[in-house]
Formats: sequence, C-alpha cells, structure tokens
Amino acid sequence: MRSDRVPVAIIGGGFSGTILAAQLARRGVSSALIDGSGRVGKGVAYSTAEPAHLLNVRAEGMSAWAGEPDHFARRFEAEGGDPRGFAERRLFARYLGEILDEASAGGRTRVVEAFATGARRDDGGWIVELADGGSLAARVLVLAIGNQEPETLASFASAGERYIANPWGEAARAAVQDLADSGGSALLVGTGLTMVDLVLSLDAAGHRGRIVAVSRRGQVPRSHGDFDPSPVEQRDVPHGSVRALWRWLRRRSAAVGWRAAVDSLRPHSQRLWQSLDPEQQRRFVRHARPWWDVHRHRIAPEVARTIAGLIGEGRLEVIAGRIVGTERVGDALQVTVRRRGSANPQTLPFAYGFNCTGPLHTIGRTRDPLLRSLLDAGQVRPDHLGIGLEVDERSRAAPGERLWALGPLTKGRYWEIIAVPDIREQAAAVAEDIAMELADEPAI
Ligand SMILES: Cc1cc2nc3c(=O)[nH]c(=O)nc-3n(C[C@H](O)[C@H](O)[C@H](O)COP(=O)(O)OP(=O)(O)OC[C@H]3O[C@@H](n4cnc5c(N)ncnc54)[C@H](O)[C@@H]3O)c2cc1C
Repeated sequence: MRSDRVPVAIIGGGFSGTILAAQLARRGVSSALIDGSGRVGKGVAYSTAEPAHLLNVRAEGMSAWAGEPDHFARRFEAEGGDPRGFAERRLFARYLGEILDEASAGGRTRVVEAFATGARRDDGGWIVELADGGSLAARVLVLAIGNQEPETLASFASAGERYIANPWGEAARAAVQDLADSGGSALLVGTGLTMVDLVLSLDAAGHRGRIVAVSRRGQVPRSHGDFDPSPVEQRDVPHGSVRALWRWLRRRSAAVGWRAAVDSLRPHSQRLWQSLDPEQQRRFVRHARPWWDVHRHRIAPEVARTIAGLIGEGRLEVIAGRIVGTERVGDALQVTVRRRGSANPQTLPFAYGFNCTGPLHTIGRTRDPLLRSLLDAGQVRPDHLGIGLEVDERSRAAPGERLWALGPLTKGRYWEIIAVPDIREQAAAVAEDIAMELADEPAI
C-alpha cells in the first residue's frame, strides 16, 4: 500500500492536469499526476485512436504553452502538416505525451495510475485517498478532473445494453463495430461535437446503415472557413446584457460575416461573461447557448464535408425534435420521436441508441467519488449556476485551503474555459500562484 508525500497532488491527467504538471516542473515544483483511466497525458478528448477525429482548432492555435503560440504548429509542420490546418487528435496526444515525458524525465512530475476516491484536510495540507488502497499527502491539491459524464437518459431505461450511456467507452466501440458488421440503424441523441465524432467513427468502421441524430433544435456544429479577422476593442462590445450583446452580434455578423464577428469576441469572452449577472448568465445558457456553441466551436472543413456528404446521401438524418418513448422489442429499440412543430410522433427502429448529449450540466449530480466526497463535506461548492465549482479570480476553489480547480470544472466563473487556448493560460497562472504559495516552505 502506497503512502507518499508530494508538494502538489493533481487529480486528472487530461490536458489540464498534464500542462499544469509541466508548468510546475518548469518552476521547479514537484507534483504527482493522478489518473486511473489509463489516459494520462491525453484525457478524454485526445485518447481517440481514430484518424478521422481531427482537432477542431487550427494547429496554429493548439500550443500547450502560454506565451509560445507556435509550439504545436512547429511540431505539426515538422510532420508535413499545415499550421493553418487541423491535425489528427492522436497527434496532439503524442505531443502532450512528449511534454509529460520531459517533465517526468526531469524528476519533477510523477504519474500515479490510480483513481482518487476522496481527499481530506490534514496538517495544513491534504491527504488524497486512492482506489488501490494507497494514499498520498500533499501540501496543495488541484482538481483537474474535466467534464463529468452525462446523466443517463430516462427514456432509455428499458433499452439494456442497446443503450450506450458513455459514447467514449469500450461499450461504444463494440457497438460501433457491431453496427458496421450488421448494417443496423443507429440513433444518436444530441447533434453537437460528440455526435460528429460518433458519425465519423461509424463511417470509418464501414457502417453503411442509417444514422439518425436528434436534438431539440437540430443544430449541428458549423464548419471553419477562411475569413478576414475583424478585431474589436472591449469597450465597443455591450456588456451586462445578453439581449444587447445578441443585437450587436447580429449587426456585426451582417457587416463582417458571422465567423469574424464570433471570433472577435474571443479575447473578451471571459470579461463579457463576468459582466452578466447570474440571471443574465442563466438566460444566455438557456437561450443563446445552442446558437453560440455551434458557431463558436466549429469543426474542420474536411469533417464538415463528410457530415454534409452523409446527409446528402441520406445516410445521416438530423432531426429537430424530442424523444417521447423507447421500447425494447427483441434485439431492437422502437423509438418514438416527435419532430419540432409536428403533432404526430413517429416510431422508428434502431439497433442502438447513443447518449451524445455532452457533459453533465449539474455538478451536484456528479458520480465521481472524489468530487462527491468534497461536495458532501462542504470543501468545495457548486458555482452560482450549478454547472461547475465556485472558484475565485485565481481559480482557488477554497481560498486559504490550498485547493485549486482547473479547466471545465471552472466554467461558471470563466465560461470559455473548455478549449486548449483558454486552459493553457489558466494552467500557467495557477502554476505561478502555487509556486508563490510554496515559495517560502522547505522542499519535501
Ligand atoms: C471529444 C473532444 C474533442 C475536443 N477537441 C478539442 C480541440 O480540437 N481543440 C480544443 O482546444 N479543445 C478541444 N476539446 C476541449 C478540450 O481540449 C477539453 O475540454 C480539455 O482537454 C479538458 O481537459 P481536462 O484535462 O480538463 O479534462 P479531461 O480530458 O476530461 O481529463 C480529466 C481526467 O481526469 C480523470 N479523472 C476524473 N476523475 C478522477 C478521479 N477521481 N481520480 C483520478 N482521475 C480522475 C479522468 O479519467 C480524465 O482522464 C475537445 C473535447 C472533447 C471532449
């Protein structure tokens, strides 16, 4: 049984945790990077082995290091890629792996392959409990556990193994292969980036059956495309009101094109978000988010062409509507869908249904044992919207308690904190804050 001491314990070895460990190593601070999923140095987004899964940000925007904008682009170019192009996600995983290897080789980062099941305060620091029965004492604790798994869809309660709750798991891979072999129909609930990934996986596996994707509005991520950037000053954008911001965005889109208008808000998005009061933020999440997500988080043009081609061939249908019932009949699912604006529901047969609705929205419903225990003990609190954890302006989840949170867990405060360009800045700032916090203490 393990019982060690480290200055910093980072829970979660996805992009957020990995780049934080590397940033700390650069500052001479040692850390343990704890992840039990077998995906250390990759996380959920970059552990795909599927060549068709491309980054949705151009290579020139994907540097892991704050202040070194072309760090990944140079790596991509060395392999014959175009910095303005979209690399395979598995190449980005190799790049992150190299960064982790470098930090580990320098002796400052130690990978601990285990799930954390709990954490408690002890002697001014933290004790992290691990699923393998071991524990680890640390002066500082950082939560970098990413998005939480989606809630299970109640309408699929009777579907058994024909319902795939986690589209990133082993069961999903097996279902994709089964669909490719049998040619059966697939139902994807959700029409965002997860749906796009799954359609690409099905296509790459040789599936030639029918795919139906359903969401309330039927909005699909838009394609990247070339445009002339049209930057704006922060003072030129209305703050404090979703309605005023929306009007501005519409006018600006008409003048310079929607891609230029949306991207011109990137440098200001965190301050814009923070200028909205909680009611305005709720309004944004409820009404504006579906539009914002598909225009802001765009897909590579080659991916968009594949999706458009499948729709054109009639192999993929995107429905705006709602699932009103599901019944398991033998090996198939009979799913009743009500299309938006139609009074007559339609029942369709599928071999599998996949939950592609994206991450859990209500943090209080997390099933992660570590997060659950910290929430139950009141050591962390949901943010004012309940979508992540409450953190201060330095991403400290509990000021004075040496507890930080990183990445999507902090979206209530920052909103735009799910993509690499935003997380790398946060990781650099948190590393600096931790290094200063520990500066006066003798090394362990
Ligand atoms: C499919 C997909 C594609 C994306 N593509 C892009 C892109 O092209 N460009 C871009 O900028 N952004 C992209 N993103 C967004 C972004 O890169 C991710 O949101 C970001 O990588 C988040 O990283 P993370 O480390 O915070 O979380 P994660 O990657 O989710 O990593 C968290 C890790 O914590 C581990 N963990 C959780 N709980 C525990 C525990 N109790 N104990 C130990 N370990 C635990 C998990 O196993 C996991 O490995 C994508 C996201 C997804 C999902």
